[in-house]
Amino acid sequence: MSEVTRGAATAQRRPPISGPALHFVGGAFVAAASGSTFETLDPATNTPITGVADGAAADVDLAVRAARAAFAEGPWPRWPAARRAEALRRVADLIDARADEIAAVECLDTGIPWSQIRHAQVPRAAENFRFFGDLARGLTGELFPTDGAFHTYTLHRPVGVAALITPWNTPFMLETWKVAPCLAAGNTCVLKPAEWAPLSAGFLAEVMRDAGLPPGVFNLVHGIGERAGAALVAHPDVQLVSFTGETATGREIMRNGAATLKRFSMELGGKSPVVVFADADLDRALDATLFGVYSLNGERCTAGSRLLVEAPVYDRLVDALLARVARIRIGAPLDPATELGPLIHPDHWRRVRGYMDVARAEGVAVAAGGDRPPGFDRGNYFAPTVLLGVEAHHRVFQEEIFGPVLCVTPFADEADAVRLANAVRYGLAAYVWTSDVTRAHRVAAGIEAGMVWVNSQNVRDLRIPFGGMKDSGIGREGGVYSFEFYTERQAVHVALGRHPIPRLGAG
Ligand code: NAD
Repeated sequence: MSEVTRGAATAQRRPPISGPALHFVGGAFVAAASGSTFETLDPATNTPITGVADGAAADVDLAVRAARAAFAEGPWPRWPAARRAEALRRVADLIDARADEIAAVECLDTGIPWSQIRHAQVPRAAENFRFFGDLARGLTGELFPTDGAFHTYTLHRPVGVAALITPWNTPFMLETWKVAPCLAAGNTCVLKPAEWAPLSAGFLAEVMRDAGLPPGVFNLVHGIGERAGAALVAHPDVQLVSFTGETATGREIMRNGAATLKRFSMELGGKSPVVVFADADLDRALDATLFGVYSLNGERCTAGSRLLVEAPVYDRLVDALLARVARIRIGAPLDPATELGPLIHPDHWRRVRGYMDVARAEGVAVAAGGDRPPGFDRGNYFAPTVLLGVEAHHRVFQEEIFGPVLCVTPFADEADAVRLANAVRYGLAAYVWTSDVTRAHRVAAGIEAGMVWVNSQNVRDLRIPFGGMKDSGIGREGGVYSFEFYTERQAVHVALGRHPIPRLGAG
């Protein structure tokens, strides 16, 4: 595609945005009770896209009441799972039908490249509704026959009202990752999307309405985390809190929810290692490393942001890496050829840029990138960055940067590789590259990470337990594991005869 054709395609995709983004409560779009709004910015230019309803405790209370009424009195939790699954399939079909529109708004609002949103994240969002709807139909209980005296069985029951609090990286997909299993199990919910990328959540409200979900089943409250999010977490009528975001925020949320005894699912930060042994297929390992840390603008929780390379192939791999990094195509998010777009927000840009000073002060070499790429004077563009000479005690090795920044560290042998992989407080994902099958299994078992990929990029299977160890999270979502969180297991004991009952007061 020529530059001119691409430019036209990019301009054509720019979505029209009419009016402020509103809350969705009890089946209707509404402004904030206070009437106030905040602005969401286009990360490519930092110009405001539109206003967003600025939710506070009063908005949260209305939304939770609507969700509570839909749970206590509405049909949704009482429908057979098959009927809910049918409704969720309609939601999926509507997402597919509007995929171009949703992707365009998401790209505009997040800065993530079109190719990665339109062809990966949005189709996955639709699939989440089909997958979890169907899975909920297959939930079974257990039977505990007891010596002919009792028949005890278990039921999966919906829990109540869920608070779903989501981050700004791939917001639409991550929202559906929570909303789909939550609703499939018969709960109702209030979604609080991230304030830096709130716009695509509005589509979720529209497709829920258009798919005919009963009012109050899905509610949406926009707002700043410390105000709208905190009010939702503290609300006494919310039973479940599923949170994805930073580890520090997760801690704060657990503290705030403790007084009303919430059940929490915490999907938190990461600093995942890519371990490349000398016997690996280096070409494929390189492709996966580049995609793993620079796709989604590096704003990916499972990014392989620490490349650990066995010493004999270190120079070769680093040379090849630097050559490829220099050719990564930086551009406008809506341009179909763009591989790396701007970071979400100027504050985040400054944070990522700040780590370059930290790195240099610690003696780390910024071998590529490290600042605004040439020719991108506006917006939050940050060049793909490679840090060399990184050691385990360096802050850039330890802390999640959440941008297109790769730390590279050599290792001597298998034991050293595992030690380095585990030398951080996070434990979300890990990637291992080797052609030695026994070593692959050993290293996978030795790494403290919720998910390990061997000779593979991050290919998601919706059935697997997704989540982290250590500071990367608590609990697992995905597949049936989502229903461990989104359902109550109720045990029903049925006496089959006349078992003895002590007769107090009978003389
Ligand atoms: P964040 O923690 O700043 O915000 C996440 C959400 O929490 C937002 O909606 C925000 O408004 C809300 N929030 C903030 N303070 C709150 C409070 N006191 N009470 C209630 N809600 C509050 O995270 P972010 O910057 O939006 O996202 C980036 C982080 O998310 C990274 O650390 C990344 O690793 C993590 N992440 C993890 C996963 C995973 O599955 N483990 C997936 C994606 C992102």
